[in-house]
Amino acid sequence: MIDSHCHLDLLASKVDLRTSLERATAAGLTRIMAPSINLQSWEALQALSEQYSSLLPIDTAIGLHPYFLTDSNQDNTASTTDIHEQAIYDNLEQLKAAAATLHPSVKAVGETGIDGHINVPLTLQKEVLHAHLKLADTVSLPVILHHRKSHHLLLEAFKQAKYQGVGVVHAFSGSVEAAKAYIERGFYLGIGGTITYERAHKTRDTLKYLLEHHFDKILLETDAPDMPMYGRQGAPNESQYLSDVVNVMHELFAISPKQTTSVTTENYFRLFKIAKY
Ligand SMILES: [Zn+2]
Repeated sequence: MIDSHCHLDLLASKVDLRTSLERATAAGLTRIMAPSINLQSWEALQALSEQYSSLLPIDTAIGLHPYFLTDSNQDNTASTTDIHEQAIYDNLEQLKAAAATLHPSVKAVGETGIDGHINVPLTLQKEVLHAHLKLADTVSLPVILHHRKSHHLLLEAFKQAKYQGVGVVHAFSGSVEAAKAYIERGFYLGIGGTITYERAHKTRDTLKYLLEHHFDKILLETDAPDMPMYGRQGAPNESQYLSDVVNVMHELFAISPKQTTSVTTENYFRLFKIAKY
């Protein structure tokens, strides 16, 4: 099983990372993608990738997450006065520089995207996403995308940037139509803890369609330490719980965990262009 979206640097501030990763490998995890949130997180994740390489391979990405474009933002309390546009432009310049000398663990650009719920002006989020898409095309890496109330804006951004590449829409939730629009552009969809909740009717219905028609476009993810699985609310989410997602897919759609694991592993290697052995 591969966790295609785990914020290891954030997780490290909540749990002992070594024991968490040991639990993950014991639970069948074979690889993790750690997307970054801000400039500091690029090097932090690259260092973690080196530090824990004997436990399991850790891929990383470089990007600026929309939540972290402000100084005090994770809890959505940021006011527009916390936004220092010049600092963001400087970070984008650093992103380009980092992309010019890629650390070997870097397999994607991200996490980037658009969040319709946060207090960061959409114009600024769009501009930052545009820069990520342009960069991803330049260096031929896929993008890792965040969405919330923003499917139409992401699709518009691809057009505007004339984006040629592919990527993954992480923590995908939405309609069959939204899923189709991404798949038509060659995108993959990250499936995580949302489907462990019974109330997630729409996303479960979409997943059913995806499993029948586009299983080759699905990745598994936890989004740890966020997005706890059903029944595990109140504690940090961890990669070891990815099997909850696989088990729910088994219960709902009668797809064996073995098949889910092998198909999504193939998908992951294909998307991030990782030579298998
Ligand atoms: Zn994320």
